[in-house]
Amino acid sequence: MNTQDFIAIEEKYGAHNYHPLDVVIEKAQGVWVWDVEGNKYLDCLAAYSAVNQGHCHPRIISKLKEQAEKVTLTSRAFRNDQLPLLTQELCELTGYKMMLPMNSGAEAVETALKAARKWGYKVKNVEDGKAEIIACTNNFSGRTISIISFSTEEQYRDGYAPFTPGYKVVEYGNIEELEKAIKPNTVAFLVEPIQGEGGVIIPPDGYLKAAFDLCKKNNVLFIADEIQSGLGRSGKLFAYQYEEIRPDVVIIGKALSGGCYPVSAVLSDKEVLGVFNPGDHGSTFGGNPLGAAIARESLKVLVEEKLVENSFELGNYFREKLNEVKSAHVKEIRGRGLFIGVELHPEAGGARRFCEALMKRGVLCKETHSHVIRFAPPLVITKEEIDWAISHVSDVLQMP
Ligand SMILES: *Cc1c(COP(=O)(O)O)cnc(C)c1O
Repeated sequence: MNTQDFIAIEEKYGAHNYHPLDVVIEKAQGVWVWDVEGNKYLDCLAAYSAVNQGHCHPRIISKLKEQAEKVTLTSRAFRNDQLPLLTQELCELTGYKMMLPMNSGAEAVETALKAARKWGYKVKNVEDGKAEIIACTNNFSGRTISIISFSTEEQYRDGYAPFTPGYKVVEYGNIEELEKAIKPNTVAFLVEPIQGEGGVIIPPDGYLKAAFDLCKKNNVLFIADEIQSGLGRSGKLFAYQYEEIRPDVVIIGKALSGGCYPVSAVLSDKEVLGVFNPGDHGSTFGGNPLGAAIARESLKVLVEEKLVENSFELGNYFREKLNEVKSAHVKEIRGRGLFIGVELHPEAGGARRFCEALMKRGVLCKETHSHVIRFAPPLVITKEEIDWAISHVSDVLQMP
């Protein structure tokens, strides 16, 4: 079967809720992927930052195989010997005192929202049913009904009403709006320290700190959604570390498993996660021994291979090289670490055609928000590989 055969089958039997580039990948290693025709590509998306450690990292795959042959799922009705070690190692790495494991990112966001509401009622003493959570414009935190209830993207909401009440939206980066929006029944402020799906948007300097201070002053939980920006993507372990803050709650997912398995988690302390009692919340697969073993190894790889440091240094290098590219289409190049957005002028005719041209040359990236090309390769990328990618990016950006 060739590329077109696979596409035809998927188009026929699969729901059309994505618009992928027409490349059918059959294997991958590190920063490279191969399609069914044998063509090789440099992956500059890294599965939306889920494969920060590189595709099929040998250590993670070996751990996956080893654990898969022992025990994969116990459910939380019983205990297993991997989850305890993941809880400890994750807390020691991040400086939080408690964690709660889930699977997808959206589930971890839902968990954080539930924890914040319960904290509001049990600790802050907000009147039952009145808790309010503030989110930002241009946010992306997943696709559940509650999460899209505070989305400002029309398409994400279209046809899904009625929505979950209890959310308010303020402009991302606007501290005055946040200050005005906080009321006595506000329990949490949910924010992405860098907006990934929103187009790699970095808030103004000092915004996170000012927002954090406002939250502290008003007894509001500061929740950082680091599902995409976290675990080294931004050149620090967490993107919030670019400012002097310590969020009350941090949500992680994606790279927590090196792209090998869905594993997510909510990190916080006893004051917040302690609100959950047995039976209050759960997940059949959350905290399973296979996922926990994979996550443990993925975190070890991140630390031992110094991928956070590599992201910082090579991110600077990548942006430096991009800045040298002369192109009339480019409006702005921004980013932190290997989390990079190239925003094109509206006249450029959209980012998609550049992504398609790059694909033909062996560089895979994906447009975000129609006019931004995101470059977020696995953090194991080298200078030589960046140089190679840049030469193609440079050529493609010369297209009329
Ligand atoms: C991807 C993402 C999510 C949702 O994660 P899923 O695993 O797709 O449910 C939430 N927040 C942010 C910032 C993300 O990038």
